[in-house]
Amino acid sequence: MPENSTAKLDPRGRKVKILATTGPASNSPDMLRRLFRAGVDAFRVNMSHGEHAQHAETIAAIRALEKEFHRPIAVFCDLQGPKLRVGTFKDGKAVIRHSGHFTLDRDPQPGDETRVCLPHPELFGLMEKGQRLLINDGKIRLRVIRASDQEILCSAEVGGVISDRKGVNVPDVEIPIPALTSKDRKDLAFAVEQGADWIGLSFVQRPDDLAEARRLMGGYGDQKPALCAKIEKPMAVRRLDEIIELSDGIMVARGDLGVELDPEDVPPLQKQIVGKTRTAGKPVIVATQMLESMIESPSPTRAEVSDVANAVYDGADAVMLSAETAAGDWPEEAVTIMHRIAGKVESDPAYLGRVRFLDTPPDPTTADALSHACMTIADTVPIAAVTVFTGSGSTARRVARERPSVPMLVLTPRLKTARRLALLWGAHAVMTRDIGSFEEMIAKGKRMALRHGFANSGDKLIALAGVPFGTPGSTNLLHIVTLSGDELEKRET
Ligand code: PGA
Ligand code: MN
Repeated sequence: MPENSTAKLDPRGRKVKILATTGPASNSPDMLRRLFRAGVDAFRVNMSHGEHAQHAETIAAIRALEKEFHRPIAVFCDLQGPKLRVGTFKDGKAVIRHSGHFTLDRDPQPGDETRVCLPHPELFGLMEKGQRLLINDGKIRLRVIRASDQEILCSAEVGGVISDRKGVNVPDVEIPIPALTSKDRKDLAFAVEQGADWIGLSFVQRPDDLAEARRLMGGYGDQKPALCAKIEKPMAVRRLDEIIELSDGIMVARGDLGVELDPEDVPPLQKQIVGKTRTAGKPVIVATQMLESMIESPSPTRAEVSDVANAVYDGADAVMLSAETAAGDWPEEAVTIMHRIAGKVESDPAYLGRVRFLDTPPDPTTADALSHACMTIADTVPIAAVTVFTGSGSTARRVARERPSVPMLVLTPRLKTARRLALLWGAHAVMTRDIGSFEEMIAKGKRMALRHGFANSGDKLIALAGVPFGTPGSTNLLHIVTLSGDELEKRET
């Protein structure tokens, strides 16, 4: 990507990032461009819907936008995961009576108001009396009366209309199926081949699920996609620390989480998951129903506005739009509103005080100490920006962890790193060539800060890097430089 930039927004603008889901309402190059201009930093391609050919077109259009705007954009491919579904019905649907009985069995014949097929053999012989089966986002609630390896007889605590292939959540059992179904394996191979920057892993239950995904992707490495575990199962909440440890980022997947648990369990968990992920210095995304009413309406409810604002006050790295941009009537308006809410919160003088915490990283390093110093220096003397030189992006993550008051300009020779950082709080990544010397680094940092509008003549910058260059995890240098008038004349060659 060329180094010169015509940024869409004021680069000193918003620090929290916006992840928008693509779909029929937003797949066209024109709408993707409009969403990007309105403030999207990363696009989610949801593998639960659509065909590979369509996804490939969407991804190509996103890459074309990067070229057009000279800005890295992250492509987040979200795998469906082991989402359980019922079979089909004779009439396409049926009504389950309140307090009536309903049976799930292994018979592939279309169902009716008394029974339907549950095409997941692994669940039979596993469910026990008293456990719950929640259908269609928890709208129908069944409790097991008796279960065998052939059928599960339930009482309907809450009935309702059930239709073909509706989703089923079984919050009380650990399902002995891997987090990656055969569809997921195909989708993952496709995503890797398409150069996805992030992979979202749905319904993670165990740390092993991440290890398996990592193995299928060919291991760790900054040329591989980053791995984001979606926390939407009680089992994942129980093993959160281990899951964070094995992930590159975390999503608070409130949609399924609020079905598997009670909805009122979600807000305290959101705070806990955001806090723990941030402590680990990894990006965390708050997702689902953020501006839900904007699927149909051009303006959000007050409660939705507060929800987005509160996620920003929680210190999330990114907030996500789902059906609002994938299938809604007002995708551009939804992004615009989200951008405005985030901007408002971030201009609240109390914001930084709320999102900063003083815990040291679980495993502090020299790089963490220097990153912390960046934050305190920028609070003490006037600094225009922190320029971070990084290959893998790890120094940028450490600086972002401190939630500094000033913009962070991340200079990296690796496109993949620049794209990944599109989900990191406050990171404005710019591609550079490899840096050879200390002098070159300082000169480059000054020029890029000027060019990208982060600083003017007379301003001070912090430069943070690891010397010798190109050694991962070697951050050991913090330098404060003042821009002179001459720099304004110099041109990048
Ligand atoms: P989904 O994940 O949109 O893929 O279901 C997010 C959630 O469950 O909140
Ligand atoms: Mn989900």
